Amino acid sequence: MINVTKTFLPDKEEYIKYISEIWDRVQLTNNGPLLQKLEAELKKYLGVDDLYFCSNGTVVLQIALKALGVKKEVITTPFSYCATTNSILWENCTPVFVDIDANTFNIDPTLIEAAITPDTEAIMATHVYGNPCEVEAIEEIAKKHSLKVIYDSAHAFGVTYKGKSLLSFGDISTCSFHATKVFHTIEGGAIISNHPELHEKLHLLRAFGHRGDEDYLFAGINGKNSEFHAAMGLCNLPHVGEIIAARKAIFDIYDETLIWDTLKKPVQSPDISYNYSYYPVVFSSESVMRRVQKALLENEIAPRRYFYPSLNTLPFMPNYFSCPVSEDISSRVLCLPLYVGLLPEEIQKISVIINQNCCM
Ligand SMILES: *Cc1c(COP(=O)(O)O)cnc(C)c1O
Repeated sequence: MINVTKTFLPDKEEYIKYISEIWDRVQLTNNGPLLQKLEAELKKYLGVDDLYFCSNGTVVLQIALKALGVKKEVITTPFSYCATTNSILWENCTPVFVDIDANTFNIDPTLIEAAITPDTEAIMATHVYGNPCEVEAIEEIAKKHSLKVIYDSAHAFGVTYKGKSLLSFGDISTCSFHATKVFHTIEGGAIISNHPELHEKLHLLRAFGHRGDEDYLFAGINGKNSEFHAAMGLCNLPHVGEIIAARKAIFDIYDETLIWDTLKKPVQSPDISYNYSYYPVVFSSESVMRRVQKALLENEIAPRRYFYPSLNTLPFMPNYFSCPVSEDISSRVLCLPLYVGLLPEEIQKISVIINQNCCM
């Protein structure tokens, strides 16, 4: 089976070297030396001032809302993975969905102001597929209305926008290092913030909210990550350059071999250096998407419906907000297989199946 993704694994011996160190020290977690080393290397690689390595890319969204004191309405995107919305609900805040731009698939900033109410406290937007949101426009709206901005940058590892890490935008940016992402630590995530006054709070919030044995400051959570996960990150980080290059080569083959007459993909900002994290294709209708999906599955190829459903239609949402663009795109998008080791002939085969089933 060719899946939508396949986890990159480093050389086993490299990993075992770190594991032996853990055995010698008998420190398995709680801000250990490998975690600190990974945080230092990630800060350097990404060019960000502060970064906290945490247990996953969902708890970091929850910590971000907590750290910024967000309690009421959060303007958010319907076109993302459900973790974005779930974190808002889990923190007892109210998601307010604003539709996406039909070209970039990111939240449409021209629709944000109309959704602001006296209870709006924050904007939580996703850089979908690693393509930057309109960060300048969002920042301007946030300033004007005193809103906090949180970017779910789960897809944006290694992306730079106008020469800066995309993770350095917003009050807080969060990342996922899940095994399916461009850079992974098996499970993992990170919080990035440029607010020095938040730094100690973020550090403490991920570890129960107390400083030492006696200072119990706030109701923190357990969002810590272990030495074993940090070790995987330390093994993978030196390979990110080659991982991104391999993904780009696959992108190029899809770009060349797919027949674009009836297909569409998101328009990318010209100001980025990209990480090639996903290869989404939007078909002309849901029935064409279904036909392609079926034909691929019959050939043991499993694309994924990233992102479906449009999150404003999740059955457990308290209110319905109409987001026609997101609902339409999510009904007919598929992400195609994309991972280090996917062979050119496999990519060609996928393209041929898609071309045959679109042009019937
Ligand atoms: C993967 C993902 C997450 C969740 O990350 P985990 O590390 O799996 O918790 C959150 N948001 C988006 C957009 C994602 O793609």
